[in-house]
Amino acid sequence: MTEHTKTDGLPGMDAPELPQVLERARPRNERMNAAKVECNACPVLCQISEGRSGACDRYANQAGVLVRVDPVVLLRKTIEDGEAKLVPFSGRAIEAGAEAAEAAEAPAGQPTWNGDLLLTEEVFVTGVGSSTTYPDYKPAPFIVGSQADGVDMVTVVTEGIFSYCSFKVKIDTDRFLGPEQANVRCKGEVVGHVTTAEYGSQMLSLGGVHHLTGGSKKEGRIANEMMQALGNKQAVELTIDGGSQLVIQAGHAPIVNGVAEQRMRVGCGSAAIGIFARQFFGQADEVVVVDDHITGVLTEHQAGRCLDMKSSGIKMRGRKSTPGRYFQVANPGTGWGGTDIADPLSIIEGWDEAVAWPGLRLLMTSTTGEHASWYVLDESLVPVEAEMPEAVRRIVERIGENCEPSLTSVLFLGGAGGSLRAGVTENPVLLTRSIKNALVNVTCGGAPAYVWPGGGITVMADVLRMPDNSFGTVPTPAIVAPIEFSMRRSDYELLGGHMGEVRSLREVLERGAWHNDGAPLSASWLALPSANPWPLGRPPLLG
Ligand code: SF4
Repeated sequence: MTEHTKTDGLPGMDAPELPQVLERARPRNERMNAAKVECNACPVLCQISEGRSGACDRYANQAGVLVRVDPVVLLRKTIEDGEAKLVPFSGRAIEAGAEAAEAAEAPAGQPTWNGDLLLTEEVFVTGVGSSTTYPDYKPAPFIVGSQADGVDMVTVVTEGIFSYCSFKVKIDTDRFLGPEQANVRCKGEVVGHVTTAEYGSQMLSLGGVHHLTGGSKKEGRIANEMMQALGNKQAVELTIDGGSQLVIQAGHAPIVNGVAEQRMRVGCGSAAIGIFARQFFGQADEVVVVDDHITGVLTEHQAGRCLDMKSSGIKMRGRKSTPGRYFQVANPGTGWGGTDIADPLSIIEGWDEAVAWPGLRLLMTSTTGEHASWYVLDESLVPVEAEMPEAVRRIVERIGENCEPSLTSVLFLGGAGGSLRAGVTENPVLLTRSIKNALVNVTCGGAPAYVWPGGGITVMADVLRMPDNSFGTVPTPAIVAPIEFSMRRSDYELLGGHMGEVRSLREVLERGAWHNDGAPLSASWLALPSANPWPLGRPPLLG
């Protein structure tokens, strides 16, 4: 712009010209060994000798070139047997030198993908292994132009560095894991807490900014390692203050105090009475379903009253909530129904002599049917254990049948509403607004990500729907996680996207990332998990 053309108020002339950005900053230390390269992918700025990798093991100096050592993960709708799973970027390998090219070569005997461009509508570039361009104002490493149903699309792909992130863990068990708000520890360090229990599940909140950066260095390091392992579907050992010792792994049964949990309860004690009352009718005179939350008593419960069942005269311990529903019959624990009892009779205070009768048949069961005993009252109205009749056993078995397998579910929760947005657009608030206006789909490693309502871009994704080893760490400490923003090309332009860095899918498949400073040298192909919708051409999962 010359002095003559520099006027106020002309359309398109009010945006300041942006300075040219160096792909790589000049070394901070002029005495830095020339054989070393400085990694610019996070604020740690490791200086890496040839043949070595940086502190996070994700970047390395290969023949003087900084490379991302893992392949970027590409998803295809389907992959046939015998198709290559690891393919070098031919253009990039040549640039990076012979050694790097060798490192990127597909394993012996494996064919390289033929790049059949007829299939490009079936290809999605994920953030896993995609690299990070730092600082944030540099465009994201992959800005991919493709098509979905004939519409031009853009997907902005990066490995985000998240300090504000955590894992919400749902553990399907009614066993007592620890008091709400209790500290959860890993290797002795506090890494999270027990949060509000949900129906049939205990919940933990693990990691998060306060443990990563607000405590000691050791606490931050251990929290970071634990989060990476959990996100990468590995087993993690935890202890809860005043509670249990746990081993949890996404998609696996939790192990509580050394015992693998089998069943998630069919419902609370009151719900179990409601579900099975008609089946119990005629088979037992009283049924007690023991539950740490609500213990159900059939003849007092509305379900028994609607069946016109005779009162049994049972007197329960605990606090009566409503007819046939009792709170706090015992303490929480790992015994019957998530209580601490081993003898179910301990929650019965006695029997009303004017109502109960000798020969009364009593079933006591837990909410999973794992514990069940059959009693008959003797002449003194004392319950005497007896062999359970076959018809009653079948109902108890049905309770068990209706319990789903106990699993651990791990959800990544991260805040992408900060500086990461600058890799997508020069005007970050437009990205936030476009997501809220359902114009931009957000995925994590191609997995659907729920976007929380309100401000920011707070996303949540099930790690089991993400590719293996999606998560990394940097020693700042923070978690590295994949994130992709997909939208129509026209919308990307409107939100101030980095249009100059959009590369066609063909170019991406041949050459990889647009940048040359720490880019991956190869791609690894995965089939889209059957539970995941195709990320392109669909709105975000808005809360
Ligand atoms: S920790 Fe990793 S990303 Fe950060 S500078 Fe070192 S090698 Fe690069």
